Amino acid sequence: FSKDYPVTGDIPATPELRPSYDVVIIGGGGHGLASAHYLSKYHGITSIAVLEKGYLAGGNTARNTTTIRSNYITPEGVAFYKEGVSLFQGLSQELDFNVMFSQRGQLTLAHSEATLRSFHLRAEIGKHMGTRTEVVDARGVEEIVPQLNMDRGGALEILGGLWHADGGTARHDAVAWGFAAQASRRGAEIHQRTEVQSVEVAGDRVQAVVTNRGRIACGAVLIAAGGMNYDVALMAGIELPIRCYPLQAMVTQPLKPWLDTLVSSVSLHTYLVQSSRGEIVIGGGSDPYQLYSTRSTLDMKEHLAAGAVHLFPFLQGVKVLRQWAGITDMTPDYSPIMGASPLANLWLDCGWGTWGFKATAVAGKRMAETIAKGRVPDVLKPFALERFETFRLLNEMGATAASH
Ligand code: FAD
Repeated sequence: FSKDYPVTGDIPATPELRPSYDVVIIGGGGHGLASAHYLSKYHGITSIAVLEKGYLAGGNTARNTTTIRSNYITPEGVAFYKEGVSLFQGLSQELDFNVMFSQRGQLTLAHSEATLRSFHLRAEIGKHMGTRTEVVDARGVEEIVPQLNMDRGGALEILGGLWHADGGTARHDAVAWGFAAQASRRGAEIHQRTEVQSVEVAGDRVQAVVTNRGRIACGAVLIAAGGMNYDVALMAGIELPIRCYPLQAMVTQPLKPWLDTLVSSVSLHTYLVQSSRGEIVIGGGSDPYQLYSTRSTLDMKEHLAAGAVHLFPFLQGVKVLRQWAGITDMTPDYSPIMGASPLANLWLDCGWGTWGFKATAVAGKRMAETIAKGRVPDVLKPFALERFETFRLLNEMGATAASH
């Protein structure tokens, strides 16, 4: 590797705040850092402050289970996430940093005819849009993951699956640190422990953001604050159609490699993937109540363990190493809100809920383009905030469920 290969130590310590920046990004998670990278590398904008109230990528970026896929159900969603997957394919080269992208495919299981029908719809849309998404029968499922309990004759018999060869995983903190290192090298400043506490608005523009370390005047502002998006937008007088729910996950002790693909069961609300360290990462659905809390619960641990052991009975007795939660900003249609806000210089990258890691690169790239040109590109237009007034919703609920 080259002499100036970025390593995590290359991210400078938090500098003094300047009185103004061309672009202020609220949130130093993957999305905010990716936006800083694409702004500085492709649009020549380097007067950027990324403001992070905690530590780099300590929000949902470092808490997610790293599913990357494009097998959604709306053509608009598939087009967007397909671009996201293709960016991951070249991301280690783009960042000169190994993000450990592993495109090993995702298998989503159908335990009922109704689920299979919806898989056929997703497969047809996926094929039409040029992704690798197909329905396989029970025998096909067994060939892909021979260790699965097919539960023949049981209540959760596996009838088939949605096989998405484009699916994969990447190392979440490597993604965030890679974007941070590249953005820093081009002059973007990353300010950790810098919390935006209020937003000054005059007329139809944001004048400044006020932080615990001082006031910053800004040319443009991007909100990319993960689970706090609703609250941060409200500081600028904008009420987003977002409600926050905890989402939990856990990992087992490391095991020898045996699970090559990502496996997800919608009926069991459980999905599994084996990490490169051998741990089985297990996730599921959101907690059933609104809450700003990153505490995990025994109830969810039991639920995830039961689902995992049903699918792979030999996991019984394997120890759980860690369990954690993130605060997810859910929209009514399970699609993000990207693009313009009611304020001329305030841009939104919000509503990423339980599914936004896979979009880290593409959201950063497209939001950078939006801010630099002051114009929303076609691929982002369907995700506009106005869709909740015009009822042009992008319903991805059925394709999000426990597949993340
Ligand atoms: P974050 O990474 O949350 O970054 C936002 C940052 O803003 C935070 O670091 C926060 O501290 C900071 N911030 C908040 N308020 C302020 C403020 N006032 N001032 C300054 N900074 C502030 N997605 C997938 O695609 N695949 C998955 O498999 C997947 N699994 C998940 C599993 C779990 C358990 C969770 C919790 C989420 C999962 N997600 C998944 C969703 C994904 O993690 C998020 O959608 C994505 O990480 C959002 O990235 P972000 O950069 O927008 O937000």
